[in-house]
Amino acid sequence: MSEAFFEEAALIAAHDEANGYEAVVPPIVQTSLFTFGSYDEMLSAYRGEIVRPIYTRGLNPTVRHFETMLAALEGADDAIGFASGMSAISSTVLSFVQPGDRIVAVRHVYPDAFRLFGTLLKRMNVAVDYVDGRDEEAVAKALPGAKLFYMESPTSWVMEAHDVGALANLARAHGAISVIDNSWASPVFQRPLSLGVDLVLHSASKYLGGHSDVVAGVVAGSRELIARIRGEAYPYLGGKLSPFDAWLLVRGLRTLPVRMKAHQDAALSIAKRLQDHPLVEEVCHPGLANRLPPGLLGTSGLFSFILRDGVDPRRFADTLRLCKLGVSWGGHESLIVPGAVVLAQKAQPNSAEAFGIHPRSVRLHVGLEGTEALWSDLEAAFTAASTN
Ligand SMILES: *Cc1c(COP(=O)(O)O)cnc(C)c1O
Repeated sequence: MSEAFFEEAALIAAHDEANGYEAVVPPIVQTSLFTFGSYDEMLSAYRGEIVRPIYTRGLNPTVRHFETMLAALEGADDAIGFASGMSAISSTVLSFVQPGDRIVAVRHVYPDAFRLFGTLLKRMNVAVDYVDGRDEEAVAKALPGAKLFYMESPTSWVMEAHDVGALANLARAHGAISVIDNSWASPVFQRPLSLGVDLVLHSASKYLGGHSDVVAGVVAGSRELIARIRGEAYPYLGGKLSPFDAWLLVRGLRTLPVRMKAHQDAALSIAKRLQDHPLVEEVCHPGLANRLPPGLLGTSGLFSFILRDGVDPRRFADTLRLCKLGVSWGGHESLIVPGAVVLAQKAQPNSAEAFGIHPRSVRLHVGLEGTEALWSDLEAAFTAASTN
């Protein structure tokens, strides 16, 4: 794709903001196609002489608006929006590997990424080796010959946090393209590109959207790497972000910094109280360590804890009222997932075991309901779960 594509697309986003109505919220360009005024105009567009939307799978102004905002937030040249986080992950990885290649990944990556690596990529004869990302020697030992280095930090159950900049430098030294799933921290608390990572991706279904009403993904990086993804995997696999979902994400991004601070403060407060609670064995929250790993500027609302032996996880879960039982996270609402339920899942390969999920662990997302209200809810659940 030409330079002009990106410049023109940025203009479209800016123009869209003006939109002719002085509307503070941009309109949704909810259309599958864009018509031409003449044969010659269509011909010029096909020849690439003029850049304008033709078909929404290729270019849509509302989607471009979101991509431009996210690229700015991550300090990237460009970004591409996808229909889901998994679509962003699969399109990104498939843009850079071919049969015979090897990927090095930190252990405990998102379960469906783990399954993508263990099924489709394996069938394509792409090998994936897992390493403990906290062990830089192990990473350096695994990297020679790897095409891609895939990170997620912190990991989303046991919360292993890495020195992302150091790992990115190792990858670069070995000629591997580095990719990080930054969904947990969001660009508010971690800017991987500024730490030397090549590509940063998100499940936008989590904090970027922030209201639990959209499933989407995004990848951001240098013009050159994003052009590789935009040139093949994006159009051919076709996991395009829809204009309406892009519009919801533009809305979500406006409040991202405020929400992230609220999630951080409430979650840290709850994590510290859990750490002192007699019915809790261990709390996994990166903010409880003496210091955050370099590059991590803050902590979000997702962490896990392990109940002491004898505490009934079923009664604990069923007593909660404010905090719901539900997968996903990043929205306004508090949610738990009991580890024992995940361990019972039949999906193959089973990432729960690879994750090291403790059967008495509980993953908690701290929402925006207020710390005291959530703590009362948790205390009632502890009381109910301990009396037998
Ligand atoms: C949810 C999630 C994904 C997958 O995103 P979807 O939008 O559900 O496809 C990827 N990585 C992490 C860390 C996630 O939590």
